[in-house]
Amino acid sequence: MIERLSMLVRAAATAAALGPWLVATAPGQEAARRPNIVFLFSDDHAYQAVGAYGDPRKLIDTPNLDRIAREGVRFDRCLVPNSICGPSRATVLTGKYSHLNGFYNNSNSRFDGAQTTFPKLLRQAGYQTAVVGKWHLVSEPTGFDYWNILPGQGIYYDPDMIEMGVSSRRTGYVTDVVTDASIAWLEKRDRSRPFLLMSQHKAPHRPWSPAIRHLGHDGDRTYPEPPTLFDDYAGRTLAERDQDMTIAGTMTPNDLKLNDFKERFSPEQRAAWDDYYRPRNEAFRKAGLQGDDLIRWKYNRYMHDYLGCIKAVDENVGRILKYLDDEGLAENTIVVYASDQGFYLGEHGWFDKRWIFEESLRTPLLVRWPGVVKPGSIEPRIVSNVDFAPTFLEAAGVPVPPEVQGRSLVPLLRGEAPPDWRKNFYYEYFEYPEPHHVRPHYGVVDSRYKLVRFDGPDLDAWELFDLKEDPNELRNVHDDPARAQVVAELKRELERLRRELKVPPKPPREAYGSRPFEGASKRGR
Ligand code: CA
Repeated sequence: MIERLSMLVRAAATAAALGPWLVATAPGQEAARRPNIVFLFSDDHAYQAVGAYGDPRKLIDTPNLDRIAREGVRFDRCLVPNSICGPSRATVLTGKYSHLNGFYNNSNSRFDGAQTTFPKLLRQAGYQTAVVGKWHLVSEPTGFDYWNILPGQGIYYDPDMIEMGVSSRRTGYVTDVVTDASIAWLEKRDRSRPFLLMSQHKAPHRPWSPAIRHLGHDGDRTYPEPPTLFDDYAGRTLAERDQDMTIAGTMTPNDLKLNDFKERFSPEQRAAWDDYYRPRNEAFRKAGLQGDDLIRWKYNRYMHDYLGCIKAVDENVGRILKYLDDEGLAENTIVVYASDQGFYLGEHGWFDKRWIFEESLRTPLLVRWPGVVKPGSIEPRIVSNVDFAPTFLEAAGVPVPPEVQGRSLVPLLRGEAPPDWRKNFYYEYFEYPEPHHVRPHYGVVDSRYKLVRFDGPDLDAWELFDLKEDPNELRNVHDDPARAQVVAELKRELERLRRELKVPPKPPREAYGSRPFEGASKRGR
């Protein structure tokens, strides 16, 4: 197999050297046409905040992201296996669930860079590979010709970046800085070979600091509320009542920019920041809001800041698309936009992610691949970021290792309808109790139902949601006698998936994170 690959690589190099007139008849013609891959990845970007997904609140216009959807395909049910940052990134790289790639949580997991990843395989097959921006996997990147990453979470203003092991302070807003560095690498790449660029943003991660140019981007709009902003968690288990991720109670003065907010501002940026927030904060304090009105105010401040961060992401996606156009690369480049998971924008009264529920389970996924994807397609099937690695490998003509757990999306991108495509999906979440007291759970999701299992030390419970009758996931109908058959079938499917995906009967102790699991939350709201 390796021999065949190196033959393909040599054929590609020969074809490129001989020029396009020979490519059509050269034996390595498939290899010669290998597409470039630009993987644009953001952090905590909710599909509700992508214009193309048509959220009824119409939270924001994202013309550049929408362009990818218009010229490509919008996946409507791209699900993540473990809805937090590091684990999603490890899944993207390996095409495996957390319990096999070993990255369970953001507290004490460290990515084992010795394992096989798709960038390594692409690199072995002759691709140039680069990752720029947020990495968040603790160990240094492996499998890349070039890497230039934010340390840890990174910061929004004048961030440090570690370029091939050397740290330095950059000037500018992080989303612009990551794009500048991405384009700089594209400029200096070896133009005779195909490339993989992973351009990964910190935004719109907490604390949601917009660029100065986006302060007041919404003209002090009052945002429509999600129907579950005032969810009381009735009809569900302790897990939903006892989390710590509400807009009402968990958001800090720092999240809400009600304090002396710290960033690496220049004096001019500090002044512009204060000019925006100070008068609004004074008016807020004067109003003395209480109860629901206070929650509404917090929700609106959150939306201004979060969506302000998205504005910069969208602009910078536009810069990359323009670069591809200007350089004549657009035709032979796969452009993918996704986030590491979804996010709550007030649904259930929450921010953050972690849950098997729709807003955190689903992530935006837009793919443009000229000549392969029919422009303006919409794909309703269940796909996942566990599928990304095999997709990129197949697109590049590189064999997918048998241990990869995802499945290539290339047939779906071609508009085919594989009859054996997955009908359901396994989910797992571990990190507990800190930082947000979301209890470990796992479950199975299909096109209509969601069966959830909590089996931690302080909660032994099942939940069943019927998304057809209850799209907002407010009623646990697990114990409804009329659903007994559905429950039995889903429990069988759950066991089948756990066997198929090689899930151990119990996760290792460290899967839950570095804080004592025994010190579980006793808040019991
Ligand atoms: Ca994230």
